[in-house]
Formats: sequence, C-alpha cells, structure tokens
Amino acid sequence: MTELTVISAAAATPGDAPYHARHLIGGTLRDSAGGARFERRSPAHGTVASTAARGGPAEVDAAVAAARAAFDAGDWSRRDGKSRAALLLKVADLIERDIERIARIETLESGKPISQARDEIAGAADLWRYAAALARTMHGESHNTLGPDMLGVVLKEPIGVVSVITPWNFPFLIVSQKLPFALAAGCTAVVKPSELTPSSTVMLGELLLEAGLPDGVVNIVLGYGDPVGAAMTTDPRVDMVTFTGSTAVGKAITAAASGTLKKVSLELGGKNPQVIFPDADLDAAADAIAFGVYFNAGECCNSSSRVIVHEDVAEALIGKVVALSRAVPFGDPLDPVTKVGAIISPEHQGKIDAHVQAAVAGGAELRLGGAALQVAGLEGQFYQPTVLSGVRPEMPIAREEVFGPVLSVLRFSEFDEAVRLANDASYGLSAGVWSESVHTCLDFARRARAGTVWTNTWMDGFPEMPFGGMKESGQGRELGRYGLEEFLEAKTVTMRIGRASRAPWVETPGRS
Ligand code: NAD
Repeated sequence: MTELTVISAAAATPGDAPYHARHLIGGTLRDSAGGARFERRSPAHGTVASTAARGGPAEVDAAVAAARAAFDAGDWSRRDGKSRAALLLKVADLIERDIERIARIETLESGKPISQARDEIAGAADLWRYAAALARTMHGESHNTLGPDMLGVVLKEPIGVVSVITPWNFPFLIVSQKLPFALAAGCTAVVKPSELTPSSTVMLGELLLEAGLPDGVVNIVLGYGDPVGAAMTTDPRVDMVTFTGSTAVGKAITAAASGTLKKVSLELGGKNPQVIFPDADLDAAADAIAFGVYFNAGECCNSSSRVIVHEDVAEALIGKVVALSRAVPFGDPLDPVTKVGAIISPEHQGKIDAHVQAAVAGGAELRLGGAALQVAGLEGQFYQPTVLSGVRPEMPIAREEVFGPVLSVLRFSEFDEAVRLANDASYGLSAGVWSESVHTCLDFARRARAGTVWTNTWMDGFPEMPFGGMKESGQGRELGRYGLEEFLEAKTVTMRIGRASRAPWVETPGRS
C-alpha cells in the first residue's frame, strides 16, 4: 500500500449531543409545522452530528412573507449606514466569541479539519466587519452638466428581498460572503443552507437575534433543494437570488428565476489550472499545488485540480508534489494536526473514485493514491491523496470537476499552448501562473479566461478583492465594492432646478 501520513481517531471521539437546527422565521426559531426533521451524521465519525427541521413550501411562504414585510416596513432598508454598520460589527464580535462552537459543528457536519474550520469562521467574522465599513460608503452619483437648470442624481437603493442559497463545503464562509453585503445594502433575506451542513447557519441566525437585528430581516429555512430552494427561486415576492453551488443547479435556478425575471448571481464550479513555467520556483509551486488540491479534501470550488507544467520540469515537479502528498496529514478532522479530512458522503466518494478509475482506464498514469482508505478508529469515508500524470486534455478528468483530493497533470512546451490548455474548459473560476518572469506572469494573467488569476501564489483571498467566475463558473461578483453593488439598484432622479424659464411643449393663447 502507498505510504501516507494517516491520522487515526483522536482519543476523544465526539461525544457531543447533536445540535438541533430550527428555521428562523420572523424573528422566531421554530420547527416545521408537522414536526418533520432530518439528521446529519459526521462523515468522518459516523455519529449523529445534528438534527434539523425539514421545511417545505409552507415554511418558505412564511419566511418570504416575513422578509417582504420587513423590507417594506423600512426599519432596516431605510436605516442609516451608521447604525447598519454598528449591527454588523456586533455580529462580527459575536462570531469571534463563538468560533469554537461554530467550528466544531462545521467539522462534525462536513468532515473538514478543525483547524481549517476555525480559520474559516475567523475569516467570516472579518467579512462581517468589512461589510460594516461598506455600509457607510454607499453612494450613487450626481450629474451637474445636464443643462444650466437641470440636476441629475443616481440613487443606489437596496434591491429588496434576496434568496440566499449555499452549498456544504464552506457553509459559514459562503453565507458570510453574501449576507453581510446584502444587509449592508439594506436588503432583507431568506437563507437556505445545504441540507448536509445546516447548523452553522442557524447558529449565525441565533447571533443575529442576539445582536438585535429586527425581526424578519433575516430568515432561515432548512431542507432540501427541492422543495425549499426551488420555492425560494420562483416566489414573486423575492427580487434576487444569490446562489453558490454546482453549475447544474445554477442553471436550473436561472431557468426557474426567469419566470419572474429575478436578478440571479451565481458562484459555481471550477476546473482551475495552475500553469508552471520552466523558470518557476518549483518548491514553492509544489507546495501551492498540494495546498490547492488537498485543501478541504479537494471539495473546493478553487481546487487547483489541473496542473499544466512545462515538459522540461514536469518530472521534477511531479516528484516534489508526490513527496508532499505522502506527507500531508489526513484522517480524523478533530485532530488539530489534520490537514485533509473526510469526504462529504459515501455517494460522493464513489463519484471521485469513478473519475480516477476512468482516467486510469483511459491511459492516465497513477503516481500516488487512487483509492478510498479506511482510517483506524473512524467509521467515515476518506480518499487517498491522488496524483495522475499523462492526463490528456480531452479526458473527462481534465475537464470535469472531481471535487476530491485528485490532481491531474498535463504537459506543454510553448507559452501559447499553455494558455490554450488553461482556457480549454467550460469553467473559468480561477487560474494560477508560476514563473520568475513578470512578463510571463502578466501575459498569462491577461489571457486567462478566469475571474481570478494568482501569480506565484494560490488561493489568497481578501475581503477587498472581488471574487467570481467567467463562463460556466458563474455571473456577478462577491466581495470588495462589487459585493455590495450586486445588492443595489440604480434609481435615476432628474430635477429641474432654479428659476430658469422653459419653453412650453404646447403653446396656448394668452400663456406667457
Ligand atoms: P449543489 O448545487 O448540489 O447545492 C447547493 C445548494 O443548492 C444546496 O443548498 C442545495 O440544497 C440547493 N439546491 C439544490 N437543488 C436546488 C434547486 N433546484 N433549486 C434551488 N436550490 C437547490 O452544490 P453542493 O454540492 O452543495 O456544492 C458543491 C458545488 O458548489 C461545487 O460545484 C462547487 O464548485 C460549488 N462551489 C462554488 C463556489 C464558488 O464560489 N464559485 C464556492 C463553493 C462551492
């Protein structure tokens, strides 16, 4: 068997009482009317991590009604920026107070390493703080050159009621890439977390109540994509849908929302390349590749699942990546040394393995891993860090999102070929380039069809920098000022001012 760095069960296996997640509707946490619920088991440990109220159209109806009423009442949507900001800052403080509690439920529900979950929650708190600053900078434009007696003003107004639908891989971070920006803009919201990771979003709801957010401004409905998410995308009282998830569901949501012409903003999948030129710092690149492909067990929209390396340095790079892959600690996510945790579900594990086996059958060379692994003392599912070389661009593994700890290595010989290979995907989320030449890096950055390009680094994210995809990786942008603008509409106000006379449109006798 391949030698890997496996972290077996931590001495203290989770004895946590399962958290019970409830809907938040109109300022009240509550179960579904009929008491329907579902449970979530830890993908690493097999124990029950949480139970959750299971909503349906009735809960969506009540939540949308509450969000609509709250928006129209104006207590939040017309509030001044200073007091909106104060509330968002309070939420950031409360998140920081509760990092440990929120991180632990994220780890238990998603299987991600606890150290990474802590970083994720801390990063989310920073997003609430950043959005608070934006809440005080909302402004439109004025036009003073429309004529001597005319003044034009463009007002920026909140778009209204927003449906927020999120995936399971970074539940708390992703809701925090959307919700504080929507709130800073003055919107109200109905939020649906993934059915696989419902609890941290409800914990956020508890903090919003504690911070004093008016009832109905944020509502949370728990349940499955159909019927809960589906109802949130068709309800005529909803003005906008902001979605992060798979490209397939993003397309379905766009179609569903078109019936009422809602604005739709989408953060979708990726097949993100890192391109390695022969003059690159290969140690730094190998480290970033290991991080890029194994972070969150590869269950990451920004996974750098494709490496496109110059043929002269390909073998040297693969050697370094394989060595790092053997050393990456994977196993029990509750152990603070673990860097790669469990796979979200047995079904997903099966899909990852099917991708790998098909690639090998199609001629790819397995350099490491390539199989599921049972970790001592743990009931859940884990997949070995996997490196495939000899991957050709037409193979499905080079084109489709695997969403697992699986790296595909392709080779190139000329700059133009590298650009062509990098752009040869239906996705366009992120891309990376490694070279000591600033010309090579900038030339690549300008030609890459991706919403984000990292040069000599990977996956550095900042609240100030917009994030989003080209092509089938999405539409719209989160973070930065762009993240606020998504939730705003422009209203044109044109005014005649001063006492200048104007020629009447219709002349009437005796009128001067
Ligand atoms: P998913 O598309 O299966 O589900 C996402 C959410 O949509 C869940 O809450 C789900 O219940 C809901 N949903 C499902 N069907 C729906 C429908 N018909 N109408 C409305 N809502 C529906 O995605 P997932 O498996 O939870 O997450 C993984 C995917 O998310 C990957 O493709 C990944 O690349 C993508 N992702 C993208 C980003 C980004 O920022 N671009 C970030 C994280 C994850």
